[in-house]
Amino acid sequence: MKRDYAVIGLGRFGGSICKELSAEGRQVLAIDSDEDRINEFKNIASHAVMADSTDEATLNELGIKNIDHVIVAIGDNIQASILTTVVLTDLDIKKITVKAQNDYHEKILNRIGAHQVVHPERDMGKRIAHNIISNNILDYLEVSDDHSIVEVKAGGKMRGHSLANLDVRANYGCNIVAIKRDKDINVSPAAEEVLREEDILIVIGADKDISRFEKHLV
Ligand code: ADP
Repeated sequence: MKRDYAVIGLGRFGGSICKELSAEGRQVLAIDSDEDRINEFKNIASHAVMADSTDEATLNELGIKNIDHVIVAIGDNIQASILTTVVLTDLDIKKITVKAQNDYHEKILNRIGAHQVVHPERDMGKRIAHNIISNNILDYLEVSDDHSIVEVKAGGKMRGHSLANLDVRANYGCNIVAIKRDKDINVSPAAEEVLREEDILIVIGADKDISRFEKHLV
């Protein structure tokens, strides 16, 4: 049977990916070396197998080569995560996503050919920190090492002003790229658009500029 994804390591992170993909109706091969984890996912994933993912022959037997996207979510055992990634790159898997535990781990994963390295704890920490700084910051997304997109409620200092009047681009070096109002989203707001209390703004810019914008206007 054709399976869309394989998730290796069914801890909190991998388990959550597996549950979500399965709930979306995707075919998921779930792999873990721990029997209890496999029992837990037997009725969730389309197929759950107890196996050691560092063993190339085992992965081959499981038909991993037919799977387009493999997610390696082995947490604390960094050695197993690296070895598994090497095996998957040797097998020429089309897309390999790996969870990194720390920056050093991330560097190695990039070097050995992981296509996508994710750092959920670090990224979520950043998002929550921005939300702690201001309750008006609803979400935060890093787009590069020094650029981000933030979703903010139009702060008191912005309400009643037009975009031209606020001139966020000239004053703070960042761009308001969209305004969410009720259920609508305006992705090319005009300069004369006047901000209202319930507006949510999507702003892109360099981190240092967004930080000034957050301090002064949000
Ligand atoms: P999280 O921090 O996301 O909860 P954990 O480290 O708790 O991650 O879980 C990682 C999972 O990966 C565990 O269920 C563990 O049994 C599994 N695992 C570790 N090494 C291997 C391996 N070599 N092959 C398959 N599964 C593994």
